[in-house]
Amino acid sequence: MAFMHQILVRCPRCEQCADIIVHEEVRLSCLACGYVRMYSDQGIRVERGAYDPFFRLPLYLQTNCCGHILWAYNQEHLAYMRQYVEADIRTSDGANRSMESRLPKWMKQKHNRDDVLRAIMLLELAYEKG
Ligand SMILES: [Zn+2]
Repeated sequence: MAFMHQILVRCPRCEQCADIIVHEEVRLSCLACGYVRMYSDQGIRVERGAYDPFFRLPLYLQTNCCGHILWAYNQEHLAYMRQYVEADIRTSDGANRSMESRLPKWMKQKHNRDDVLRAIMLLELAYEKG
């Protein structure tokens, strides 16, 4: 799945921002407390939602928005969502189609746009503060 090479989650030990690096192996590590864990199960449980699909830890980048949870795996994912929502939602022909299909419907609704943008910026700030 797109954007899954790095997933920011809440450290199970100290609750700070930890990251899961998905490469040949899947490794969870926390800079704040030094916690490290490898993922050894076979396969992943790809469920959409505010948890990572390996350790089932809550994603670090998540917030309530429009009665839903807006979440992202990492900064790149946030930037992608922002780019889409900032773009004119009405022009949906051609080029943007693949991008559109990956976002939940409520995020694409015009009347939610301001709230969605606000939530994305909030998460960007939260991440910068660490
Ligand atoms: Zn930690």
